[in-house]
Amino acid sequence: MFNNLDVTNIFIDNQVFIKPEYKIDAVISGNKYRKLKYNIIEAKRLGFHNLLTFGGAFSNHIAAVAVAGKKYGFNTIGVIRGEELNDKSELNPTLALAKENGMKFKFVSREAYRKKSETDFIESLKKEMGNFYLIPEGGTNGLAVKGCEEILTSVDSEFDFICCPVGTGGTISGLINSSFSNQKVLGFPALKGDFIKKDISKFAKKNNWELITDYHFGGYAKINDDLISFINSFKEKYNIPLDPIYTGKMVFGIFDLIDKGFFPENARVLAIHTGGLQGIAGINQELERKKKTLIT
Ligand SMILES: *Cc1c(COP(=O)(O)O)cnc(C)c1O
Repeated sequence: MFNNLDVTNIFIDNQVFIKPEYKIDAVISGNKYRKLKYNIIEAKRLGFHNLLTFGGAFSNHIAAVAVAGKKYGFNTIGVIRGEELNDKSELNPTLALAKENGMKFKFVSREAYRKKSETDFIESLKKEMGNFYLIPEGGTNGLAVKGCEEILTSVDSEFDFICCPVGTGGTISGLINSSFSNQKVLGFPALKGDFIKKDISKFAKKNNWELITDYHFGGYAKINDDLISFINSFKEKYNIPLDPIYTGKMVFGIFDLIDKGFFPENARVLAIHTGGLQGIAGINQELERKKKTLIT
């Protein structure tokens, strides 16, 4: 069901390489593929027909679950943050893509959404929609971390630093667990706040990691002109697309850290490109509305 993947590292400059996990699939891409793999195998093993998960309206995870569900024979339900979306005549590009792939939506208030891990809320969803295999928000659980442990392979032992963007912390946890003893794993949170440290500690079995919290650009999905122009020039120069929510902020951060002398001379840095490119269309819609430069 899941093939061996070829994601050969791409050379960027004398210190930095990129692992192009975005090439795995246009939508079930990067870490979302890694996080879904063992969950889908488990849902099949247990005989489930429905997958249910949670996400925001621009979520890469929602798009990936919809496409993966269709590909592997599941009905999918997305519980989406934001009741007001129910009244919108037009879905944004992420939700439109999910719908095209057969996902059914339940739009809930921000207040209801906060109950996403509470048993009573999950039980009421089961009464309403029938039984389902639950994939948590952002897809992070033990099986997701297990999938992310497969991102690094033996060829990656030559690197001194492994860098990745951080949302719910599942991806970095997998990377930490499979990192080599001489390596340090650097996480670049895409959101403000330090709470994520605790979540990572739940899954990570080692202490060779650190969060670099200076590159969230004001918070989740917040962007500015500097970031957009960095993403556009990076693509022009290296022919590698970056998304504005996760990988763009991380690579911007890595280049800035190099300028500031953060990395020791001759240290080798591997940046994990975790995908997320489906999110560009939605951000471009917003940029167009504001008459700003688009992501190319
Ligand atoms: C979801 C996502 C992340 C965050 O992964 P976590 O495991 O939630 O930390 C990072 N990069 C991309 C492109 C994503 O879609």
